[in-house]
Amino acid sequence: MKRIGVLTSGGDAPGMNAAIRAVVRKANYHDVEVYGIYHGYEGFIQGKMELLDLGSVGGIIQRGGTKLFSSRCPKFMEEKYRLQGIEKMKEAGIDGLIVIGGDGSYRGAYELTKLGFKCIGVPATIDNDIPGTDFTIGFDTALNTVVNAIDKIRDTATSHENTFIIEVMGRDAGDLALWSGLAAGAESVIIPEEPFDLDDIIARLKRGEARKKKHSIIIVAEGVMPASQLADMIKERTGIDIRITVLGHIQRGGSPTAFDRVLASRLGAYAVELLLEGKTCRAVGIKNQEVYDYDLQEIFTTKHQADISLYTLSKELSI
Ligand code: ATP
Repeated sequence: MKRIGVLTSGGDAPGMNAAIRAVVRKANYHDVEVYGIYHGYEGFIQGKMELLDLGSVGGIIQRGGTKLFSSRCPKFMEEKYRLQGIEKMKEAGIDGLIVIGGDGSYRGAYELTKLGFKCIGVPATIDNDIPGTDFTIGFDTALNTVVNAIDKIRDTATSHENTFIIEVMGRDAGDLALWSGLAAGAESVIIPEEPFDLDDIIARLKRGEARKKKHSIIIVAEGVMPASQLADMIKERTGIDIRITVLGHIQRGGSPTAFDRVLASRLGAYAVELLLEGKTCRAVGIKNQEVYDYDLQEIFTTKHQADISLYTLSKELSI
């Protein structure tokens, strides 16, 4: 294999640039050329790409977002467009592709492998919801962004003796809520993986009040319900006037943490190794600090599991 492609797809995540850099540098190290494909699968279909040399990925390891841009490309669901893209790649002498993205992007990659085009998936999403890897690229950065925001809100909550509900991203996964809630010492953390228990949330608020604690932080994952809905439910039952903050897209941006840069470098480089060994339909991930690979199809049969021991711990520490 002398020439490969790389693209970023789905929601952007901090560390995608570091992964692109690792792909290019590792491939170049083995005398393999890398073409950067712009706008995810949209660019794949149109053959919108550019040769990335060593210098072209200089100075991006610390940048959030993705140098290659990203997109959601509904057309890619149709085989005729996937075949069109494969044709464009073949014309350019590209024999394999590294897809950096979330589970939707993996599905697209899997469909390509079924048509005989070699693909390796690199997990990048702030949601940490890809089965088979302990961490996805971008999660740690988003987590730190959320924790910083909660720390700031806590200052106001303490000064004004308020209760705040903070809504965090994560789609159907509770990881961001869980980890940030534990890291910031939230009084309650509400995640989709555990049953919603309004009585418990209210009991915690009341216990806090009883020990003269007048402020409280509740973290709710977006996959459970909007913060406003939860605030209404609590107000209806207790009369407590609650402030809400929806953190929104600040969680997706920003310079990647050192952890995400290292993760992206390891996973990007490992994906190149696999392609150069002739492997296809594999996803790379990290398990107990070790980089490894597994069948891309596992994402269809395995469900991502949040670490529920953190949920239990958070409850125990926020009595
Ligand atoms: P995030 O988790 O950040 O949203 P993602 O990779 O899951 O990232 P999606 O929008 O779900 O984001 O998927 C990205 C793109 O992958 C889609 O726009 C589409 O082009 C392609 N894709 C998704 N599912 C399929 C599928 N079943 N077949 C072919 N292509 C798909």
